Amino acid sequence: MKVYNYSDLNKQDIERLVQRNVDPANEIRAVVEEVIANVREYGDDALIGYAKKFDKVDLDKLYLDKDELAELATTLSDDQKSALQTAYNNIYKFHQTQVKAEDRVETMPGVSCWREARPIEKVGLYIPGGSAVLPSTFLMLGIPARIAGCHEIVVCSPPQKNGKVNAFIAYVAGLLGVERIYLAGGAQAIAAMAYGTKSISKVDKIFGPGNQFVTKAKTIIQSTTTTAIDMPAGPSEVLVIADETANSAYIAADLLAQAEHGIDSQSILVSTSSKILTDAIAEVELQLGVLPRAEIARQAIDNSYAVLVNDLNEAITFSNTYAPEHLILATEYWQQITGSIINAGSVFLGNLTPESAGDYASGTNHTLPTSAYARAYSGVSVDSFVKKITFQHITPEGIQNIGPAVEILAEMEGLHAHKNAVSVRLNDNQ
Ligand code: NAD
Repeated sequence: MKVYNYSDLNKQDIERLVQRNVDPANEIRAVVEEVIANVREYGDDALIGYAKKFDKVDLDKLYLDKDELAELATTLSDDQKSALQTAYNNIYKFHQTQVKAEDRVETMPGVSCWREARPIEKVGLYIPGGSAVLPSTFLMLGIPARIAGCHEIVVCSPPQKNGKVNAFIAYVAGLLGVERIYLAGGAQAIAAMAYGTKSISKVDKIFGPGNQFVTKAKTIIQSTTTTAIDMPAGPSEVLVIADETANSAYIAADLLAQAEHGIDSQSILVSTSSKILTDAIAEVELQLGVLPRAEIARQAIDNSYAVLVNDLNEAITFSNTYAPEHLILATEYWQQITGSIINAGSVFLGNLTPESAGDYASGTNHTLPTSAYARAYSGVSVDSFVKKITFQHITPEGIQNIGPAVEILAEMEGLHAHKNAVSVRLNDNQ
């Protein structure tokens, strides 16, 4: 892991360091554009072809139905079911509180305005399943979709080697009341949900993280179709801020938890203590030795780095520029600095709050903006699955109160039909 001294870095160095690998040669884009074009033209046949090409599996049908999912789910142990139920309950409890009716406001006597939420009718959930299958992502997307009341939930996940989804995904489908899962992964799944095929409905909004192919497909269809996306949630990343009160073994474990996601994941350590920084890097090597996914994690760690800073304020300044998806404050003094955090997807406070808790079961959502999009985007929540529609009502008193101002404003803009829409009402309600 490369180490930088913050004091030695100029503005350009910092800009270069916080830059994520975003397909500079447009290689991913070229592949994804071809996949999208083929799915548009050949629909289900293209999906079956890509399952063979990328997932190395021959599919005779493109989905698993309720009975097949229930059968797959029978293999879970009681402990596994109970852990998934704990995660379900906590995520549900946290997200349920996001449903709030807004106040009606009388902006002038007789003029009332308010907003009401309505669910997005058709949503598409992408559940990653390439190098690791993520039933946790299914919970993180399915629970807010259900709370919001979305009418149709289309779920796509890459087929595993046996032409099915794994048993955990099947069990979560039962918890969420999802009766069908489509066996499609990567850019082709995103294209199918954006354009529709014979089997898969076109949806209004697509949710879910994924690798670079998935993320690129989402950003392309967002500007070329009427289907919206949650956010560009790509390769995962963590930034750990640590001072002398941190535990180097915990830091290393957190850096590796991120690194094992994929070779393009990033794990950044920013420390005020050179001892903690050196110890944590040594500890990463130790812990790597016993990780089953060490090969993946090693490559991600090689693409990551550490920065030695003078104090926690400098650490936060760097972190705000990086805008990490996950931010861990490995310090006993976290309460003094949380107010200074401006850009981050989700924040983990203190030495006993591992990111893994939020990844799975504490209750917060793990579908979060990566690649510095945390500067402008929030993570997934119930809000992501609804539209907020504004309403207004004007009484006879209200039209007298607001009418003259609207007439003048319309005249200022030269829009006389606008003015007249008020004048005819004012004339009738003198
Ligand atoms: P994935 O489901 O995203 O991708 C697998 C699919 O990619 C395959 O089915 C295949 O169709 C396609 N693919 C593979 N190689 C290809 C190629 N050469 N050309 C075209 N398509 C190809 O699963 P994954 O690969 O394991 O990636 C999951 C990603 O999700 C990880 O990068 C992880 O960090 C990220 N993640 C992000 C968040 C978040 O909130 N940001 C949360 C969880 C996971």
